[in-house]
Amino acid sequence: MVKGTSSKEVKKINRNRVFRYLNTVAEASMPEIAAALRMSGPTVLTIVGELCAAGVVEEVGELASTGGRKAKAYGVIKDAFLFLGIDITRNHIGIVSTDFSEDVVAYRRQRRRFANTEAYRQVLGEELKSFIADYQIDESKIRGIGVAIPGIVDANRNVIKKSHTLQITEELTADDLCKYIDFPCILANDANAGAIAECAGSNRNESLIYLSLSNTVGGAILLETGANNQGGLGYYRNMYVGDNWEGGEFGHVVIRPEGRTCYCGKEGCLDPYCSALVLASMEDGKLEEFFPKLEAGSKKHQQVWQEYLDNLAYAVDMLVMSMDCDIVLGGYVGSFMEPYLEDFKAYVEQRIIFKKKRDFLRTCKYKVEAAALGAAVFLVEEAILKI
Ligand SMILES: [Zn+2]
Repeated sequence: MVKGTSSKEVKKINRNRVFRYLNTVAEASMPEIAAALRMSGPTVLTIVGELCAAGVVEEVGELASTGGRKAKAYGVIKDAFLFLGIDITRNHIGIVSTDFSEDVVAYRRQRRRFANTEAYRQVLGEELKSFIADYQIDESKIRGIGVAIPGIVDANRNVIKKSHTLQITEELTADDLCKYIDFPCILANDANAGAIAECAGSNRNESLIYLSLSNTVGGAILLETGANNQGGLGYYRNMYVGDNWEGGEFGHVVIRPEGRTCYCGKEGCLDPYCSALVLASMEDGKLEEFFPKLEAGSKKHQQVWQEYLDNLAYAVDMLVMSMDCDIVLGGYVGSFMEPYLEDFKAYVEQRIIFKKKRDFLRTCKYKVEAAALGAAVFLVEEAILKI
């Protein structure tokens, strides 16, 4: 316990621990909670009573008796509160809903071209309204909206500082962008949000780099995810964001001097070699149609894929040598990489001069709408902290 922690704070920390424990197991009795968290029976009794009164935990039945009275089982009411996440890209709006499960409950992606205009802000508001209506989401349960952006976000001030992709050159606040949304909104960089989705619900304490291979290449650096994790904005305490919220922008690290021109204006950045567009552009922008052709043995697709992996290997080698931690291949391409992972790992290992543990490289956990989900997970964690 931190010196000087008041008894009120201790109670809050304990309430949080009980809630988080119940949120990770399907159900548990009070003696089980007490044993797992090393708390006294009366403390657990009080806390479970408080959580039930708050409407976030309920009795879910009785556990099988081992003799004597059957113990009542308790579980989290997963949909007691709801959280929505939006992923804004140059050409699409993706929306997900989630709850205390921190999993995608519903999602939808629509083609809507971004413009930094009043008309687009109205479209954004209408898209959200129609999503809520179509999925019959109870508005009274919504606690907030997380908005993921391919750009630099200052999370403390809740503003987009700039975005090359969306051609935002002057600061844009969440209040302005979301003026037609009737819920509190927070902004997040899309790769940072994807990284948070990756760690959601995990008890692992690890440092990792999340490499987001979407229509732009981004990244996030997470340090010791299990330690001091305060949730919500607290997640940023475990994220290295740099001095200007610009850390982890691996897409603009030069891997081929004087190479392809990047949308940022530089030559040879990782982005024009490893963005999902490199593959999707062969299929009229439809990435999902690239892989069946690759599997069918198309020579052209195989050549582009091999070249893509060569360049990705440069990036992974650079990241491993810089950070010596696990690397998650995320974003659109990461969602399709699972079948190719073992071969790619063997290929990368030939380059890396230090021996790494077998699973230092993995693909992302969420295959759809990870950025939108992650933006919402910031709010889930914040809500858990307030319980
Ligand atoms: Zn660049």
